[in-house]
Amino acid sequence: MSAPERHILGISGGRDSAALAVFMRQHHPDLPIEYFFTDTGKELPEVYTFLDRLEGFLGKTIRRLNPDRDFDFWLKEYNNFLPSPRTRWCTRQLKLRPLEHWLRPDLEAGVTVHSYVAIRADEPSREGYQSTHPNMKVHLPLREAGIDRAGVLEILRQSDVGEPAYYDWRSRSGCTFCFFQQKIEWVRLYRNHEDRFMEAVNYEKTALEDGSPFTWSDGESLIDLIEPKRMQAIEDDYAARITRLRARRPRNPLSAKTPDETVDDVYGIDEADGGCVICHK
Ligand code: SF4
Repeated sequence: MSAPERHILGISGGRDSAALAVFMRQHHPDLPIEYFFTDTGKELPEVYTFLDRLEGFLGKTIRRLNPDRDFDFWLKEYNNFLPSPRTRWCTRQLKLRPLEHWLRPDLEAGVTVHSYVAIRADEPSREGYQSTHPNMKVHLPLREAGIDRAGVLEILRQSDVGEPAYYDWRSRSGCTFCFFQQKIEWVRLYRNHEDRFMEAVNYEKTALEDGSPFTWSDGESLIDLIEPKRMQAIEDDYAARITRLRARRPRNPLSAKTPDETVDDVYGIDEADGGCVICHK
């Protein structure tokens, strides 16, 4: 009898992992892949709608891995210090920990776990997807197949899975209050999901009262950020950047389509610097 094996694929609610799931379904339909989504409990409603759509295509359930303790518990544990790019306890406690709990018994029992990770061919080498256990084997099928960002979009278009609706106003999957957001995305969170924005405001208030040095967005509180003049300035700056970016881009005379620049493109942020493989793929 051959040694026991598992095949897992983490869905983040973003484009790349969804395209990888579609790709694996199309190219390796015989693999018994277990799809999972680590749910922080602070996800956008658009993410759940997208997961449902993807499940329809895959014909399989995407297992929700819920943390045993929620964001509020961990926030208290960390003395009400908000997570930040340098102290990213949120990913560790709400994403990695539930995954470890799910896999550890099998890994320790000698089961080989094949993990399929959505790193594209056009991305620089990134950390964060290396194996954390000798029995865990990491595979990068999109990179191996030479699939880049345009390829991902094409996979999602052709399969009719499409893109999560939040890409209209935000560049990444992940928590509603993710600190990797740009200021324009905070403004848009306020405009699209005011209740979620106000939840983030309340967390920030508590954190500041407890002496946390961090605000969600660099250098200003969320309340200051939605002061009408400030919001207008952020939106105007974004519009001006888009205009400049489009003017610099060579036009494809065969395509009438507006180029679909992301917020990262507009701010010149390298994708690998502005997010993480676990939350934002
Ligand atoms: S999406 Fe952002 S806030 Fe949420 S766990 Fe990931 S890094 Fe933390």
